[in-house]
Amino acid sequence: MTEELNPFKIAQQQLDEAAKILKLDPATHALLREPMRELHVTFPVRMDDGSVRIFKGFRVQYNDARGPTKGGIRFHPDETIDTVRALAAWMTWKTAVVDIPLGGGKGGVICNPKEMSQAELERLSRGYIRALAHYIGPETDIPAPDVYTNPQIMAWMMDEYSIITGYNVPGVITGKPLPLGGSAGRGDATAKGGMYCIREAAKVLGIDLTQATVAIQGYGNAGQFAHKLITSMFGSKVVAVSDSRGGIYDPKGLDFEAVVAHKEKTGAVKGFPGAKEITNEELLELEVTLLIPAALENQIGAWNAGNIKARILAELANGPTTPDADEVLFNNGVFVIPDFLCNAGGVTVSYFEQVQNAYDYYWTAEEVYERLDQKMTAAFHAVHEMAKKYGVHNRTAAYLVSVSRVAEACKLRGWV
Ligand code: GLU
Repeated sequence: MTEELNPFKIAQQQLDEAAKILKLDPATHALLREPMRELHVTFPVRMDDGSVRIFKGFRVQYNDARGPTKGGIRFHPDETIDTVRALAAWMTWKTAVVDIPLGGGKGGVICNPKEMSQAELERLSRGYIRALAHYIGPETDIPAPDVYTNPQIMAWMMDEYSIITGYNVPGVITGKPLPLGGSAGRGDATAKGGMYCIREAAKVLGIDLTQATVAIQGYGNAGQFAHKLITSMFGSKVVAVSDSRGGIYDPKGLDFEAVVAHKEKTGAVKGFPGAKEITNEELLELEVTLLIPAALENQIGAWNAGNIKARILAELANGPTTPDADEVLFNNGVFVIPDFLCNAGGVTVSYFEQVQNAYDYYWTAEEVYERLDQKMTAAFHAVHEMAKKYGVHNRTAAYLVSVSRVAEACKLRGWV
């Protein structure tokens, strides 16, 4: 990883830009530039063949001025502490932009879940929680799903934490399955929140979404639900999708159910009948109305930003765009809905899940979506107004909204 593409360096650089515009005092700026706490763990897991493997994991509690730290857990072979730090920083800005009473955190384990059995994954999940148990909790730090983790993994983790505590603690983790205190609407919440932002952006830009074409990079939770929802909510046409093994393109449109069935059968979207095969790089540069990166960091940089032809770049992934690329996109008139605004639907419904766990009383999907819509729409317009006021691009505007909220909480607590 080069220094320019180190996600934590990027997160700090983005903050520095906002701090300059806000004329943030040096102490607050220094505090917000670093995680407040981080835990590095090494733990053993018994594999199916009887051998023991040692895994490394992290949990970064970036800032808890506005409330307990909150953020997902990633299982990924390329996980690094700096990636987790960046993601924890972005969670801090994310919870602030949607104005929910939480801070930001993130966790990660270096592992390749694609090469592990379900039983091994269960033991890894439980082992990680045992290593973390005394540092997390409903009032301190609440994990959730992220890349390559899912509701089943959340269920094992919640169970392990409850065993250690001695009673049922559903509020320790969100993104749980419904029978264990999950929330209606959590599954598609990230994509749904992004859709509300896209709807508002289209209004501002005067774009008719029924005529829009869409390319989606990444076909995990966020990417798949984006495919489904952009068609069902707005009638837009998804012409390209991809996953880590490559992409497919069909100008006539790709049917959601058929692509999902193909991926379930073969393990990849490529080879989908009737579609042209394209690379992930080619997908980003397609002539479409809407481009939705929904995979990993650093996909759009100085090397390809000038070739992006989409009118709206809706970032469902965390950190897909580098600061150099932001400048190019802004100058070229690409309307960016920045990651920690665009994908904040997930953590917003996670917060609703926690509220429901605390009350032990559950809402309908309609209630969840209505409240999510209110949060996302308000956040979108707060950012849009800020962008107009300062003449900056939307990412810096989102930072201005969030950083001032977190800075105010730090000041009110008497920290700075
Ligand atoms: N992992 C998701 C994110 O990056 C959700 C976090 C949460 O629900 O706490 O926003």
